[in-house]
Amino acid sequence: MSELLSTFAHADAAAQLPQSAMQECDVLVIGGGPAGSTAGALLAEKGWRVVVLDKDKHPRFHIGESLLPMNLPLFERLGVADQVAAIGMPKFGAEFVSDTHDKTLTYYFSEALDKNFPYAYQVRRSEFDHLLLNNCAAKGVSVHEEMRADGVVFDAEGATVEAQDKNKRRHCWRARFIVDASGRDTLLASRFDHKRRNKRHNSAALYAHFQDAARLPGKDAGNVSIFWFAHGWFWVIPLADGATSVGAVCWPAYLKSRKTDVETFFRDTIALCPAVAERLQDATLVSEVTGTGNYSYQATRMSGERYVLVGDAFAFIDPVFSTGVYLAMHSAFLAADAIDDCLRNPEIASRRLRAFERTMRAGLKTFSWFIYRVTTPAVRDLFMAPANVFRVREAMQSLLAGDVFRRTSLPARIRVFKTAYYLKSLARLPQSLAAYRTRQRNING
Ligand SMILES: Cc1cc2nc3c(=O)[nH]c(=O)nc-3n(C[C@H](O)[C@H](O)[C@H](O)COP(=O)(O)OP(=O)(O)OC[C@H]3O[C@@H](n4cnc5c(N)ncnc54)[C@H](O)[C@@H]3O)c2cc1C
Repeated sequence: MSELLSTFAHADAAAQLPQSAMQECDVLVIGGGPAGSTAGALLAEKGWRVVVLDKDKHPRFHIGESLLPMNLPLFERLGVADQVAAIGMPKFGAEFVSDTHDKTLTYYFSEALDKNFPYAYQVRRSEFDHLLLNNCAAKGVSVHEEMRADGVVFDAEGATVEAQDKNKRRHCWRARFIVDASGRDTLLASRFDHKRRNKRHNSAALYAHFQDAARLPGKDAGNVSIFWFAHGWFWVIPLADGATSVGAVCWPAYLKSRKTDVETFFRDTIALCPAVAERLQDATLVSEVTGTGNYSYQATRMSGERYVLVGDAFAFIDPVFSTGVYLAMHSAFLAADAIDDCLRNPEIASRRLRAFERTMRAGLKTFSWFIYRVTTPAVRDLFMAPANVFRVREAMQSLLAGDVFRRTSLPARIRVFKTAYYLKSLARLPQSLAAYRTRQRNING
């Protein structure tokens, strides 16, 4: 309860607001990215009066263009499957290119434990996020763009949210429940001082769009490609309109070594990975090069008596498995059910929210184990030569498809993979220890 009453508010804003400016709703969602617009649409469908605020005007650029097969059932349930298909580049698998193994390997989603989710999409996030937000409005949500929430005051009945529009006019809502979907801004986690840097992981990324990058032949043209190199790994994501998103995810120590402007540094980094350079041989840079630093974090809690955190507002670890949008949307689905229960039966609220939090943390933990080790020699060896003993290869395909929340045999098969990993690491103890020390140095660098 003490936390419920924690407050933060824009200085004097509440005092300046005329009482008539106060608007009422059941649920107020801060952030209209995939998490916020999914939660908003679902709660409106359940009959609640929902308000979504987004500080930006959509369509707007956002990184995170590669979706997972497990996103598709969510699109169906939201009623946007056809719209996403119309803007998406079909993605049938994930290609891994290892400089130390001198080979390429593609994991196809059609070969996962469950063969019913054989593809996903690559999308321009500006278009994708916009259509999700429009869907939310079409379902009756009151959507306010260019409206930055900057104050939330919780009390025993709900919360008062203050926000400012682009003309600096102040607005105020009274809500019974708050969904924080503010992404990396982590509005509530930051204000409650619940946000923690991930001590086990740390990386940063440089990325841009290119035109006319070489594509894989035939059906593979839309696959995501992951290239390992000395300082981390690259993504190459082909988009439907002919552009290709390219990003270098590197240890912070490497990025700190930059002595040139960002574009030159990015081009020099690409040159360090000949396989990526080859794909971009005839390509033209068509966007600015953007950098995002030290982005691995998690909040200490995902919910309170009258709020939940969904998507990046709770945690973000790493983009290597393209899990961000899926986790954001999946957490919004679970949160919408939990909030609906909490509003109808307040006496079960804390049990319900704890269950929501347990499920999401378990999914994140499954991905984290791999993320923390994906650049180690043992995991790279296992990824590049996957045996299908005990259907472990199929399990890896399921993991890459995002199938971590349903009841499947995945956990048992992942345990087999982990055993192989630990045995391999022991067999090559000196190299494993050296890799561990390098990783620790790089993380803290
Ligand atoms: C380098 C990099 C590469 C990535 N690649 C991938 C990928 O390939 N695939 C993938 O699935 N994910 C990827 N991600 C992750 C992905 O971008 C995020 O996980 C995803 O966007 C999370 O969705 P969200 O709705 O939680 O947050 P967001 O998409 O960030 O949406 C948050 C929204 O909240 C709004 N907002 C913030 N603060 C306020 C406020 N105070 N008031 C009102 N509105 C506010 C913002 O304007 C924004 O629209 C990547 C991330 C990084 C850093």
